[in-house]
Amino acid sequence: MNYTDIINRRKFLRFISCCTCGLIISSCSTVPITERKQLRIIPESTLNRQAAQIYEKVKSKEKLSDDLNQLNEIKEIGHNIEQAVSEYFDRNNIADPTANFKWEYILVDNKKIKNAWCMPGGKIAVYSGILEVTKNKHGLASVMGHEIAHAVAKHSVAINLGTQIADIISGGKISGASRAAGVDVAGMLAHFGIMNPFNRKQESEADYLGIIFTSLAGYDIRESAKIWERMKEANKGKEPPEWMSTHPSTSRRIQQLKDWIPGVILEYPPIKKM
Ligand SMILES: [Zn+2]
Repeated sequence: MNYTDIINRRKFLRFISCCTCGLIISSCSTVPITERKQLRIIPESTLNRQAAQIYEKVKSKEKLSDDLNQLNEIKEIGHNIEQAVSEYFDRNNIADPTANFKWEYILVDNKKIKNAWCMPGGKIAVYSGILEVTKNKHGLASVMGHEIAHAVAKHSVAINLGTQIADIISGGKISGASRAAGVDVAGMLAHFGIMNPFNRKQESEADYLGIIFTSLAGYDIRESAKIWERMKEANKGKEPPEWMSTHPSTSRRIQQLKDWIPGVILEYPPIKKM
């Protein structure tokens, strides 16, 4: 490395640190209900637009199920949760975080994938494999409530400070993911936390907000702990120890849900549109 390189590198680093300060000041936001502060670095409108493009790609690449009854159940649960969330925020005079959402639901015919996700802006996919674990509408509502909670809490827009700085300096995956918009489906899904799990704090937050939304929508949230029991059984022996994973361990998750459920049932009973 010659002298000019060093100077440029210094200038570059100074430039980066200025940018970072600006971002910290301008884009700290608070998750409704849990009131956790998080940093936002990508505007919601941009992210929703990217998500909608990727969703179209997923729709054209994946085999969509022709089970209309099942798809209708998914949509019915979804509409109930949508309405409950908006009604809750309206009644409490909090700006509805889903005001700009354009909700959409698909059922992907893939029995091997036990998963569901909700992209920014309310683009939801359920994979047929998870229906073996959810078993009934209360179970399915619990899973959808959790996924919707990630989108309501805007977890994809939020990146913790450490990650952000590391990422900018390494020219890393955030800029990479924006470049890949509309091109690399897997990369974009990862960007939204869909292939890579969200971090532990975000997962716990989605569990908590998820049962609140599911309860407000009129479903039996005791099923949420039971799903994880069934998931644990289905994944027996395949799970890494919690300290190695960015996800909370299943046992910890089940215990946390069991601790929250009675209080949430009392505090967040079904809410009907007035
Ligand atoms: Zn999650």
